[in-house]
Amino acid sequence: MKENHPFHVLIVAAGSGTRLGGEVPKAYREISGTPILTRTVRAFLKTFEAQGATIASGERVENIHIVIAAEHRALYEAAMAQLPVTLPAPIIGGKDRKGSVYNGIKSLSHLKNEDILLIHDAARPFVRMDDISNLVKALEGNCVAATLAAPVSDTLRREGGETVDRSSLFAIQTPQAFRVRIIRQAHEKAVESFTDDAGMVEALGIPVRLVEGARDNIKITTPKDLIMAEEMAMAKERIQTRTGMGFDVHAFDTSRKNMILCGIEIPCDRALAGHSDADAGLHALTDALLGTIGQGDIGSFFPPSDPRWKGVNSMIFLEKAVSLVHEKGGRIVHADITFICEIPKIGPHRTAMQEVLGAALGLPPGQIGIKATTTEGLGFLGRKEGLAAQALVSVEFPA
Ligand code: MG
Repeated sequence: MKENHPFHVLIVAAGSGTRLGGEVPKAYREISGTPILTRTVRAFLKTFEAQGATIASGERVENIHIVIAAEHRALYEAAMAQLPVTLPAPIIGGKDRKGSVYNGIKSLSHLKNEDILLIHDAARPFVRMDDISNLVKALEGNCVAATLAAPVSDTLRREGGETVDRSSLFAIQTPQAFRVRIIRQAHEKAVESFTDDAGMVEALGIPVRLVEGARDNIKITTPKDLIMAEEMAMAKERIQTRTGMGFDVHAFDTSRKNMILCGIEIPCDRALAGHSDADAGLHALTDALLGTIGQGDIGSFFPPSDPRWKGVNSMIFLEKAVSLVHEKGGRIVHADITFICEIPKIGPHRTAMQEVLGAALGLPPGQIGIKATTTEGLGFLGRKEGLAAQALVSVEFPA
């Protein structure tokens, strides 16, 4: 991973968190046995992994920088000892949050002007990987500053006064993402006190894009927040993993050429016979996904007797199954497909298939298996009368 990772993150953990009370400073308070700061760092490590990085045990991850109070050093070391990786030496904070962030920015003088820096409060350990990725994506193109923000859903009323229109109101969260030159400029010029970095950038007349974040990205501030965080952590840890299986066979059609498997057109001296595009890989995968939610099979949603599905691209079947799984709160974590055939050769198309399936399932290539085997010439597959595909998927659901 090292320096070439797509973004850096500065985690601010220097406050004492007096509103939370207790002896231990906020970032080092435990949620379900793990310090808040440790959980927050893990969220970013998981994001790097979700983006395709392999993080080895003991590796030094150069992209995560933490600002701490000098007197918290021992607590910091203990919290970091729970991580599988090491981080660069911590940066010592300033007299307030703004001073701490500025110290952080100054100590990152090796970052280039166009690098992306995320600034995040240690007290938001529940930030989601998808939201971090979406925030970073927002900085593609001309946008130089963006922040996670959650729409306000409560009715808002001024004390003793009128109800406030909430349709244009957002609760600003962190992380906030910036091109390094922009956030350097904002902190060098800032004279007023701001509660967040996006506000400082806006004061320069630079627009900040709002990226919708999950409402559960709460900032732990009060003792009640800590109780809620305990409950959230326990709920998240109660995950049920389900495995679904699918199997499909299509006969060869020697009157036509080329076939489609896992969305990829494969040159071949024969085609596959079927009502749709006969993509046995996608059919098996669709059935495997439906298997995780007990929703019948592909034929229950797309009966072959229905002329609407004649010659259709099987990706629509897969997309339907993915959206049904998502509706049930499922998170697809792995897919594994085996083709059983004498022809065609699957290996040369593996990477392209992983790319197509990755986009449809929201998975990196390392979580999509594409394999092939033969039946050693035996049976209808061995006689090259057709092709079979089987698929297994793992999907995590809230228990
Ligand atoms: Mg089929």
